[in-house]
Amino acid sequence: MGESSPRFQAFLPRHLGGLLERCGADEETQLLTRAVAAVLPFKTNQYIVDELIDWSNIPDDPIFRLVFPQPDMLAPIELKTIAELIRSQADQATLTAAVRKIQAGMNAHPAGQTDLNVPEWDGKPLSGVQHKYRETLLYFPRQGQTCHAYCTYCFRWAQFVGIPDLKIAAEEADAGRLHAYLRSHTEISDILMTGGDPLIMSTENLSRAIEPFLHPDLAHISTIRIGTKALTYWPYRFVTDRDADDLMRLFERVKAAGKHLALMAHVTHPRELETAAVHRAVQRVRATGAVIRTQAPLVRTINDHASVWRDLWTRTVALDAVPYYMFVERDTGPRHYFEVPLVRGWEIYREAVSTVTGLARTVRGPSMSTSLGKVVVDGVTTVGDQPALALRYLQARDPEMVGRPFFASYDDHAAWVTDLRPLTKTDLPFFDQSADVTAPLSLSGPSFGHRR
Ligand SMILES: *Cc1c(COP(=O)(O)O)cnc(C)c1O
Ligand code: SF4
Repeated sequence: MGESSPRFQAFLPRHLGGLLERCGADEETQLLTRAVAAVLPFKTNQYIVDELIDWSNIPDDPIFRLVFPQPDMLAPIELKTIAELIRSQADQATLTAAVRKIQAGMNAHPAGQTDLNVPEWDGKPLSGVQHKYRETLLYFPRQGQTCHAYCTYCFRWAQFVGIPDLKIAAEEADAGRLHAYLRSHTEISDILMTGGDPLIMSTENLSRAIEPFLHPDLAHISTIRIGTKALTYWPYRFVTDRDADDLMRLFERVKAAGKHLALMAHVTHPRELETAAVHRAVQRVRATGAVIRTQAPLVRTINDHASVWRDLWTRTVALDAVPYYMFVERDTGPRHYFEVPLVRGWEIYREAVSTVTGLARTVRGPSMSTSLGKVVVDGVTTVGDQPALALRYLQARDPEMVGRPFFASYDDHAAWVTDLRPLTKTDLPFFDQSADVTAPLSLSGPSFGHRR
């Protein structure tokens, strides 16, 4: 097969009707889908539509559910309200007011996503960066705040539907101050570029964002990670796009500067790793010396089966990449749509991990990104005679908390750390007590070094 070089074409809400007709959706289904797309973001592209979705398996196909608005993303009453307004051709102001009301009830600010952990330099906050964990700076380049398609479970949904005040993006005017901050923070070893998707940017803009990190006065920065879904939403970004070759040269320059370069590829379902285009993209990225690590949230009806994760990790390793994170999806947006209880998530993890080669067992368990840190669910156990969930911080704002086992009372409905109760007083400091999570950690009570 010859190598085609398709030009990127986005499908947006106005294309929904045509796309759904293709799968024979009736008018009612089309109306409900449009109603959801009025509240939550929708964007896909021809590669996903032509090569990833199995149109003979609609509406259950996982990739269809990954990118197309689903009626169960809204509460029945919300869905009905919006659908009625569209059906009766209500005026735009009425529709917008109803939409904003529903969006306002969807917790657009999940833990630490906006104003938390923003570092300052010269007494002023640095735009578009977060410094939550000692070693790692999260960096949101301004032109990288969209994606080649939108995932239905995206916790950045608010910025994609234009809710004001939610954008986190680096201003180029702050570049000099960011550099000064990094120079004086030699504890930072990792830059994690994220978005949206930084690889939506032209290679030229991406170079402008990355090259400063290669400067000799930032020798303490040993790792640059790029969080992206382009590898599976638009693999041509690495293969045939106009500036794909330039992107490979940029990756090579990062390597030549002595840095570890990790492409943190968001891969939700093993189907995404099947096409010739993605295989070619992986080969090209690996040829630059960059490493590919994969991560994804665990999402109800899309990948909530052990066999899906087994296939995902097995294929990842076969492609010469490394499985890294299984996330618990944040408590935001259409939460009831994607939610998988923590106990169930751990069961899926355990069953999957027990059936793959040791080389594919690099994911540490379902992990939550919370105000205090990254919490992994180690499993269900009993402590004394009490059923419990064993938990552990993989990362924490307070490094003292990392790696120490702690416990929550067993709860098979809990889907987020805030649904959990500490098992004993000893476990209390591991849970967020304060409403104001920007306040310094108060670690009174049992010292972390001497529990039990
Ligand atoms: C997950 C995460 C990181 C990276 O943590 P690692 O354990 O190094 O993978 C950095 N910053 C934030 C805010 C995160 O949520
Ligand atoms: S790729 Fe990431 S940022 Fe983009 S829509 Fe999906 S979850 Fe959101």
